[in-house]
This record gives sequence, C-alpha cells and structure tokens, in this order.
Amino acid sequence: MKDIQTFAKQYQKDMGWDITEESYTKSRESLLNNYMLLTTEVAEVAEELRKAFNLTASYVENGMEEEQAFELAKKQIKEDIGKELSDCLAYMLKFYNYFGIDLEENFYAKMAEVKKRKNKDSVNLPK
Ligand SMILES: [Mg+2]
Repeated sequence: MKDIQTFAKQYQKDMGWDITEESYTKSRESLLNNYMLLTTEVAEVAEELRKAFNLTASYVENGMEEEQAFELAKKQIKEDIGKELSDCLAYMLKFYNYFGIDLEENFYAKMAEVKKRKNKDSVNLPK
C-alpha cells in the first residue's frame, strides 16, 4: 500500500494533477474540483453495475438462467469496472497524499473501528 501511495504521489506530480497547496483559495478550488471528479468516478462504477444488471435482465429474457446470466454479465463488465474503481482509487489517493495520511495505517485502524461498531449494532442487522 505504501508503494501505491508513493507511486500515486509521484504520478500526480509528474502529470501536474496533484492537489495544489499554493494558497487557501487555490487549495479550496483544487480540493473541490478533485472531490467532484471523485464523485464522477463513483458514478461511473454505478453505470457499470447498471450495465451488468441490464445485461443480466436481457439474458434472462432470452431464456438464460438468472445466476448464469449474472455470472456472464459480471465477466463482461469486469475490465471496465476495474478501470473505474482504479479511477476512484487515484482520486482517493490524492486526498490521502494531500492530507499526509498513511493509507494503510488509516485503513486498518478504520476497519478495526468499524468492526467494533458493527458488533455493537449486529443485533439490529439482518442476517
Ligand atoms: Mg472513469
């Protein structure tokens, strides 16, 4: 994880795509722009899911068994959804790097926090 974060930092710097630290005004504009781009990429993930569900429905309409249809649809979107998830990760890494947050350390700490919280709430959760 450290490697991917370091790679992203250098890559974004080389491309001139890093979030600027020039001034509050420019940082604010750059942060908001990158936030907007991140949410656009998240929407592109949704589009891939929608494509998979539409493909599944169309295969089922043509007589294919539902689980088999969904497996086929997942295979068909795998490459593109992978690209969109990578786009999301690239923008997320920009934010980690801008704020000087260690991704790996933060991720494990947050997952531990969520695990504790989930256990407390599990009584109310289905399954
Ligand atoms: Mg994209």
